[in-house]
Amino acid sequence: MELSAIAAGQPKTDLVYLREMEIQESQARVIKVVPEKRTHAYLILNQTIFHPKGGGQPSDRGVICSREYEVTVKKAIHYKGVVIHWGKLNRGTPTEGDAACVLDWPYRHLVMRRHTAAHLLDHCLAQAVGSKVQTTDSWLDEPCYVGYAGSVPSEEALRETEALANRMITNAATVSIKFLTSEEAKELLQNASNYERLPDLLEVRTVTIDGCQPIPCGGTHVSNLAEIGRVSVVNAEPLSDNSYRLHFSVSANASSS
Ligand SMILES: [Zn+2]
Repeated sequence: MELSAIAAGQPKTDLVYLREMEIQESQARVIKVVPEKRTHAYLILNQTIFHPKGGGQPSDRGVICSREYEVTVKKAIHYKGVVIHWGKLNRGTPTEGDAACVLDWPYRHLVMRRHTAAHLLDHCLAQAVGSKVQTTDSWLDEPCYVGYAGSVPSEEALRETEALANRMITNAATVSIKFLTSEEAKELLQNASNYERLPDLLEVRTVTIDGCQPIPCGGTHVSNLAEIGRVSVVNAEPLSDNSYRLHFSVSANASSS
């Protein structure tokens, strides 16, 4: 079934994950159910903690359930302000009404660590190469990378980027979010690495790692760099259009799980 038909006439979903990134479970109201064959269904909720695929961040996974049914959420899809949850029926048949939502938290937390590390790498790469960098895209599942315009930096600059990032992680800088008007955002974000890719929005959500430039972003991040553990720059892969992908990984250290 077309997403446009599923979302037709539905109110915009309240995106809880934009404000509360640490929520792993919540209650919501199922306001529409569209079965797909006997095994799957599309669900629309009044509010959601499931981050849909977008902005380089993969879709959250998890469970939506009540006493009568349980759906394994495989994908959350953003369609014109409405988040559509698609999943497999494990038990019973989903109906409209109150439901419990539970995220696959280990996966989401990994994505949050990677997402925050990606912003940190933007900052540290700019420091290491001594000029502003411009991101082209990113992907925070596998393979995990940030794309940048220009040619591949020297190996020395890559090692310096990694060292700077891990120093800031050791210093446990905080990460905060803010909601700005479009005018406030234009003023504040001119130097952001993804400024050129910004859509025109009424309200702009920014994420700021303490000590770094604010960055416009709708994704989920950890609230302190210490949660990242350790970041490793794996390699820089040159692409044919004078851009490259910086592949990286995050790994837990003794102080984070
Ligand atoms: Zn972000």
